[in-house]
Amino acid sequence: MNIGSFLAEAARTYPGRAALTRGTTTRTYAELHARAGAFAAALSEAGLRRGDRVVVWSHNRPEVVETYFACWHIGLVVVPVNAKVTVDEVAFHISDSRATALVYSEDFADGAASIPGVRRIGIGPEYEALLARHQDASQGGVEVVDVAPDTPAWLFYTSGTTGRPKGAILTHANLAFMVVSWCADLHQLQPEDVVLHCAPLSHGAGFHALVTVARGAHALVHDRFDPAVVLDAIAAHRVTATWLVPTQIRMLLDHPSLATADLSSLTHIVYGGAPMHAADLAEAVKRIGPVFVQLYGQGESPMTITYLRREEHRPDRPDTEVLTSTGVARTAMEVRVVDADGVAVAPREAGEIIVRGPAVMTGYWNRPDATAESLRDGWLHTGDVGMLDERGYLYVLDRMKDLIITGGSNVYAREVEEVLLRHPAVHEVAVFGVPDRTWGELVVGAVVPDTEVDPDELIVFCRERMTSFKRPRRIHVLDALPRNAYGKVLKRELRAQLGAGGTGPDHRA
Ligand code: ATP
Repeated sequence: MNIGSFLAEAARTYPGRAALTRGTTTRTYAELHARAGAFAAALSEAGLRRGDRVVVWSHNRPEVVETYFACWHIGLVVVPVNAKVTVDEVAFHISDSRATALVYSEDFADGAASIPGVRRIGIGPEYEALLARHQDASQGGVEVVDVAPDTPAWLFYTSGTTGRPKGAILTHANLAFMVVSWCADLHQLQPEDVVLHCAPLSHGAGFHALVTVARGAHALVHDRFDPAVVLDAIAAHRVTATWLVPTQIRMLLDHPSLATADLSSLTHIVYGGAPMHAADLAEAVKRIGPVFVQLYGQGESPMTITYLRREEHRPDRPDTEVLTSTGVARTAMEVRVVDADGVAVAPREAGEIIVRGPAVMTGYWNRPDATAESLRDGWLHTGDVGMLDERGYLYVLDRMKDLIITGGSNVYAREVEEVLLRHPAVHEVAVFGVPDRTWGELVVGAVVPDTEVDPDELIVFCRERMTSFKRPRRIHVLDALPRNAYGKVLKRELRAQLGAGGTGPDHRA
């Protein structure tokens, strides 16, 4: 088994079909396969051997996808890093994974040059020269090596929302299963599909690109997410599918061109990676159409824990509760909610979400302690708090590390955020706990408003709609929420910025 064979198979079946397009350049499956083969030969010649790690630090480029397949062809492990990280962070990924090569896009040439002890290959003239030199190898057809299913294929560094990134080891079997599960649950891609990859290829869009190639569909690669460019591209290329995180959907909804954009070709927007609040989702379905499919996953079980089907995205139906859920367990995945002793709790009781199945990683790279903490008796402990309802729908309530305990009672940020977002002036929101002498922690909100709003009015709004101890005691009005490179709200930064104050004049117990 080798996921590199997905490309070999697509090239054999659809050699002349468009595989990857960036700007005005399109490469067919035959060309993509030949280029990946040539780069594989170049990496072999550079001395890389099975099991070696290759860090890929690049904006979204077709060459990133080529590099992934080149590495898998010869049994190397890819270590993709987000284009927005700093040079120090790239150096951390290289040293933590003990990578021997760094493939980078040209705009990072200066940063890459300052990282010692690694073979550096710049996407651009250097990369093209290497390919030209190894063209012959690819003409004869490069062999995709056999690997055992549990061979590492991708070291997926968590985004570090709650701490230092850790490298989840994803094997060829994990990723092959991820592809099958995507097609079984989220979107049965066809070769006729045109798939836009505008989120980072180092993360969800990279997994989506693997699915796209496995199905012989046409991938459009955008450097980065720009709502105006995305809306134009959907119309111009008759895009059928894309993967977005909730922040990007919010940005599309906020863009003035959305009202006149031609989105008639779209059939699937798969989204996830962070909470999608019900008010935003209802607006998105109304304005963009019934094209949304939600997934809940994490690096440790790539994109694959639960899903909410397209047909269930119906805000007009009486059962709108499912819109606050992340849906039901994915094919062949088992999901439970357990207490601190690992015992399953009753429906609608909160606990830690644990998951078991073929998507789950084999462990963290060189982190036996973290692995032992996360993988227990074959179950992945997600570090997320959630609850299952009687029908098996999962509600992701909070990160365990973000859980707020005030006066001895648990408050889940998601619940308070959903209420605040129902206020017409609230555009974006984050709720978090800050230390407090009297209550242990206080519930605090940060909102980005659409129009001027009085924080006291928001507190009253919450008081009228939720149990007293859950309502925020302080609300801060901000211009923007701090987010990481993947668009996720950084609550630890909000706590650090806004934590002071405690039981001050704002505290209305
Ligand atoms: P770190 O583990 O380093 O803090 P991270 O958890 O942000 O980083 P990822 O693997 O990118 O790293 O994110 C997975 C997390 O994102 C999940 O554990 C969950 O908290 C959140 N998440 C993913 N999908 C959804 C979803 N559909 N709804 C709510 N939250 C989601």
